[in-house]
Amino acid sequence: MVGYKSKVAEQIHLPSRTKRERALEEAGYNVFNLDSEDVFIDLLTDSGTGAMSDEQWAALFRGDEAYAGSRSFGELEDAVADVMGFSHVVPAHQGRGAENVLYGSLVEEGDVVPNNTHFDTTRAHIANQGADPVDCPVDDARDPAADGPFKGNTSLERARAVVEEHGPERVPVVVQTITNNSAAGQPVSVENSRAVREFADEIGASFVIDACRFAENAYFVTEREDEFADASVADVAREQLGLADAVVMSGKKDGLANAGGFVATDSDALYESCKQRAILYEGFPTYGGMAGRDIAAMAVGLREAVDEAYVADRVGQVQELADALESVGVPIYTPAGGHAVYLDAGAFLSHLEPEAFPGQALVCELYREGGVRGVELGSFAFPDTDRPELVRLALPRRTYHREHLEHVAETAAAVLERREDVSGLEIEEEPEMAEIRHFTATLEPTGSS
Ligand SMILES: *Cc1c(COP(=O)(O)O)cnc(C)c1O
Repeated sequence: MVGYKSKVAEQIHLPSRTKRERALEEAGYNVFNLDSEDVFIDLLTDSGTGAMSDEQWAALFRGDEAYAGSRSFGELEDAVADVMGFSHVVPAHQGRGAENVLYGSLVEEGDVVPNNTHFDTTRAHIANQGADPVDCPVDDARDPAADGPFKGNTSLERARAVVEEHGPERVPVVVQTITNNSAAGQPVSVENSRAVREFADEIGASFVIDACRFAENAYFVTEREDEFADASVADVAREQLGLADAVVMSGKKDGLANAGGFVATDSDALYESCKQRAILYEGFPTYGGMAGRDIAAMAVGLREAVDEAYVADRVGQVQELADALESVGVPIYTPAGGHAVYLDAGAFLSHLEPEAFPGQALVCELYREGGVRGVELGSFAFPDTDRPELVRLALPRRTYHREHLEHVAETAAAVLERREDVSGLEIEEEPEMAEIRHFTATLEPTGSS
C-alpha cells in the first residue's frame, strides 16, 4: 500500500508524434540531448529526481546557512548516527565528491581496488588516483535470465584472485556497492557483506560500502535472507552498514534529496584525513559544498528511506513495472532490481548486431513511440566490453503513478509489435573520451548518410 499522497502537482504532457520525431532528430538520437519539457515519462535516472516529502520541504525553510557549525549539519550527524550507525560525517556536494574525498584519502598510485562492480564515477575516481579498479561480480550478475536472490553479491573468489595476483599490500581497500547499481540494481546479502568484512580483515584492508541504495538493499534482505525475515529495514541497514569501516553516499539516491552526499566513518584517523581533503575540494566540513537547507532536507530523507511503507512501495513499484512489461512480452533482466527495470535490448531487437547499438535504438524508439526516456547501458555506453545490451528504466522516487507505468508498458509493447522495422544506429560524432561518449555523442540511423 502506498504510504503517501500528492500535495504538489507538476504538469507533464506528451508532445505530438511529429514533435517527438523532430526532437529526436535534433537531439542526434541521443536522449541526453532532449529538453525535459519534450519528455512525458522521464526514466533517465533515479538520481536526485524524486519528490521530497512535506517534512523535507519544511526542513529546507529551517536550513541553517552558517559557514561553520551549522545546525543543519548537526541534524545530518544525528540522522547518520541513528540510521547508519556512524559517528563522523564529512558532507560533499554529491556522491562523486564524497568518492573523491574518501578514495583520495585511502588509495594511492599503483593500488588495486576490488568492488562487486564499480559504478562509473567510482571507477573514474579510483583510476584518477592512479589505481586499478577491478570488478568482482558473481557469475550470474551479467546474465539477464539467471534467477537468484542476490545477484549483486561480491565474488570472494574473484577478490581473492586479485589479492593473489597483486599482493595484499597493493589492496588497501575493498569496496562493496549496495545495491549493485552497475549490475542491474541487484541486492547484496548481509552474509556476503560479512564475508567481505572477514576477507578485508584477512588482508589488512579497509572495507568501504558504497551505500547509495542501502535502504532498498535492506528491504531485499528482509524479503530474501532467512535470518532477517522478521527484522525491520532499519535494523538490517544498521547491521549491514555496521560491517564497514566507512560508507560513501549519494544523497540523491536513498538520501531522498535532490542534491548532496557524504562520507561516514567511526575511524578518527580517516575522518581527519577526509576532512582535510574535503576543505580542499568540497568546502568547510560542516557544509561540504551543500547549502545548509539541502543538508537539512537530506537528513530528513535518510530517516524516511528506512520507513517500511516507503521502501516497500519504492521497490514494489519497480516490480510492478517489471510485471507490466513482462505481461506484454517485453524481455527484461530478471529479477528486477531496486531502482530500475532493465530491458534486454539484445533479445528485444535480436536482428541488430552490437555494432548497430540495439540498446540505443530501443531507447530512441521508446521516446518516439510514447515520449518515454530511458538510458542505454550496453555497447554504446560501454565500448569494448562484452556486457549485455541493456536499457535501464529508472524510477524516480515517489514520482510516478500506476497509470504512468502502464503507459510505459504499452509503449514498449507497441515498439515490440514493429520491432523488425527498427533500424540500427551509427555514431555521427563522438567526444575524445570513449568512456563517457554516451552523454554527448550524436548518432544517425544506419544507412542514412
Ligand atoms: C549515483 C552513484 C554514485 C555517485 O553519486 P552522484 O551523487 O551521482 O555523484 C556512486 N555510486 C553509486 C552506486 C551510485 O549509484
